[in-house]
Amino acid sequence: MKKITLLGSTGSIGCSTLDVVENNPDRFRIVALVAGENTELLLKQIEKFRPKVVAVKSKEAALKLRTALTAKNRVKILYDVEGMREAAAHPSADIVVSAISGSAGLIPTLAAIEAGKDIALANKETMVLAGEIVTQKALKKRIKIIPVDSEHSAIFQCLEGSRRENLRRIILTASGGPFLNFTARQLQQVTLQQTLRHPKWKMGKKITIDSASMMNKGLEIIEAKWLFDMDMQAIDVLIHPQSIVHSMVEFVDGAFLAQMGVPDMKIPIAYALTYPERIAGNSAPLNLAKEKTLEFYPPDARKFPCLDIARQAGIDGGTAPAVLNAADEIAVEAFMRKTVRFVDIPVIIEKVLKEHKTIKKPTLEDILDADRWARLKTHTIIERMTH
Ligand code: MG
Repeated sequence: MKKITLLGSTGSIGCSTLDVVENNPDRFRIVALVAGENTELLLKQIEKFRPKVVAVKSKEAALKLRTALTAKNRVKILYDVEGMREAAAHPSADIVVSAISGSAGLIPTLAAIEAGKDIALANKETMVLAGEIVTQKALKKRIKIIPVDSEHSAIFQCLEGSRRENLRRIILTASGGPFLNFTARQLQQVTLQQTLRHPKWKMGKKITIDSASMMNKGLEIIEAKWLFDMDMQAIDVLIHPQSIVHSMVEFVDGAFLAQMGVPDMKIPIAYALTYPERIAGNSAPLNLAKEKTLEFYPPDARKFPCLDIARQAGIDGGTAPAVLNAADEIAVEAFMRKTVRFVDIPVIIEKVLKEHKTIKKPTLEDILDADRWARLKTHTIIERMTH
């Protein structure tokens, strides 16, 4: 029986993780759930999975839960960053699924690593913001970080049983999102509704918008750099609209290995939870004969500048990726409020990065400061643009 703490239980990855747990009741048990403010869904999850501890974002949310739960339910309710850290470090968990959306995932994930837990990592921001600190801490604590992000899970699987020194290149695939074949002119007019209509994956709003702008792939390059200790230059991106090949690796002899499957997050989630084993019955099978064609194209950097902006921030390193990520989070929020256009997102992020003085070899405090600075700066820039 594997005991699981789930950070971000009410999000898209969180719900899929709970589906996997529910499908395999003799394999997994939930120890702790951490969520934001969706107490309605969390309540249902508490009743179904009976965790020992839950943590939510605010005291108000904690009170709401307490009132809604019957006196019989002895679940311990925590709140705030401190509560999330305590839940993430709960002693009875074997593995912690890190699936909070955005930079908010970093601190609880670090707490779990500090407590010696293996991590199933879906929160890419943990690596984007603090890849160096996180990988060093993982090494020191001798814990495993198993990727859940579908591309990184694919690469992780492709590298199983092969020699690291033979690896030449990583190729991340990207669906291309809903605007793959849009002209630059059409991109100027796209609506929020269109942006949220991802052709292949069902995900949360933030990551769906990031997929449409290619920022998601940019963040994934940085994530891959740290997860697989690769040079940024050895990580390439290919557009693959069918989303069947989830990513691939190239070895020095020219051989490629690719991992394929239907686009269903339950596959990489289950793999991360059972690694190095595999379990059946979590997803529909892939029918390649029905699929017929698998296409690959180079990404269009002019139409989707976020990819190169992110790559450059990754090369600059230090606090630059934290600034990139924070500026993107705020710009995407503004796009969701319809304050800025879709095409403004990269323009805003670039402005923020330009004003940032990168700190090399940052401490965690430097990174959190850069994150806060970038959020304020992004708000100011958006304010200036829209008034
Ligand atoms: Mg991904």
